[in-house]
Amino acid sequence: MSKKIVVLGAGTGGTIVSNNLRRHLPPDWEITVIDRDDKHIYQPGLLFVPFGMQKPSTLVKSRKKYIIPGVNFVIDEITNIDPEKKEVKTRNHKFSYDFLVISTGCRVAPEENDGLMDAWGKNAFSFYFLEAAIQLQKKLKEFNGGKLVMNIAELPFKCPVAPIEFVFLADWYLKNRGIRQKSQIELVTPLPMAFTKPKAAAVFTESAKEKNINITTSFELNQVNGKEKYIESVKGDKVSFDTLVIVPTTIGDNVISDSGIDDGIGYVPTHHNTLKALKHDNIYVLGDATNVPTSKAGSVAHYEADVVVFNIMAEIHGVKPEEIYDGHSTCFIVYSKGTSSLIDFNYKIEPLPGKYPMPKLGPFSLLKETRMNWYGKLGFESLYWNVLLAGRHLGAPPTLVMAGKQVG
Ligand SMILES: Cc1cc2nc3c(=O)[nH]c(=O)nc-3n(C[C@H](O)[C@H](O)[C@H](O)COP(=O)(O)OP(=O)(O)OC[C@H]3O[C@@H](n4cnc5c(N)ncnc54)[C@H](O)[C@@H]3O)c2cc1C
Repeated sequence: MSKKIVVLGAGTGGTIVSNNLRRHLPPDWEITVIDRDDKHIYQPGLLFVPFGMQKPSTLVKSRKKYIIPGVNFVIDEITNIDPEKKEVKTRNHKFSYDFLVISTGCRVAPEENDGLMDAWGKNAFSFYFLEAAIQLQKKLKEFNGGKLVMNIAELPFKCPVAPIEFVFLADWYLKNRGIRQKSQIELVTPLPMAFTKPKAAAVFTESAKEKNINITTSFELNQVNGKEKYIESVKGDKVSFDTLVIVPTTIGDNVISDSGIDDGIGYVPTHHNTLKALKHDNIYVLGDATNVPTSKAGSVAHYEADVVVFNIMAEIHGVKPEEIYDGHSTCFIVYSKGTSSLIDFNYKIEPLPGKYPMPKLGPFSLLKETRMNWYGKLGFESLYWNVLLAGRHLGAPPTLVMAGKQVG
């Protein structure tokens, strides 16, 4: 009888894992990946849509096209995960498994934020999903000066650098339109600093100062008041706005909490280093669906995919899973149209200056705004579709490499 691996979610992590497993396993292992639709969205490109720098239609491609032959792709809504029975239910089918991989990601839930839906599309916007990013593009075109506030409603949230990139790009965009003098830009974050890591946060804060962008920290959102145009924190502090751009509360997919396998906010308790579900055997978790303390980012899903495949292969061969993953994350940070910075870090090591990926040569520079980094950011899109999703290796380990980094 054939053995079965079921992968939940065919986004960044699920697609890489499915393709990579297919390359490693003999045909008597059946691999099935399930997603609710056939639209794979390149999410990093959402940042560019509001500024008219990326055509929305170029961000969406068929998932099926990026899943290699030999993997069954099922389009259906996953409705239940039963770790005891080793069974997954979708609206129309039931799937049993020997190993389950959960890569259902996370989603923004504007309905969770008091007052936000009343203001949505009037003076409150987002760029965290495609329709919202398109709507914001229209709004920014009409923006004729005033106060633009970028707020993060709650932790954790996806891609912690995206709101910083948004305010930097807004500065560039408004200058370009000749209305920067009539505009104020403010980043309002629940974090105690601009970013999750202190050293990188200090660098970003300095750049924000140079761009005359105000940063308000430790602001936990209580409500949005679209009529009177302010956001209020749980402590009662208010920040006024003319146009609000928000990362609404972010939660794991409902199927995780409905199945009772979540940590209370929709994420699966996951071993930080093996990426195995803490409470359930034969289940691995990766990407935004985990509760591991690193960024919810595509680079993370990609590095984690290598570890999940390695450990499933180990278990199949009767070997214990290894504690390999170190929280490795790599992100470009766009500073303007034409320049970008880059950070590379893990659970323990903060972003450091230096060269990446080759010591001394780069060509990319860490924690530094350069034009070459911008080309890297642009080139990444093609790498994503054509190399990474296919589960092909670039020869680099999934863990942080210290060569090229300046310590101290
Ligand atoms: C604006 C923005 C900018 C970003 N920029 C960057 C960046 O520059 N660099 C970077 O590394 N990352 C970036 N990211 C983050 C990155 O895109 C995500 O972290 C990454 O896609 C996570 O991969 P994943 O596989 O965990 O989840 P996803 O890719 O989101 O995939 C989850 C999949 O599961 C499916 N699914 C969930 N629940 C169900 C269900 N019940 N039934 C059926 N299907 C289901 C979904 O349809 C989805 O396809 C950005 C994200 C945003 C929003």
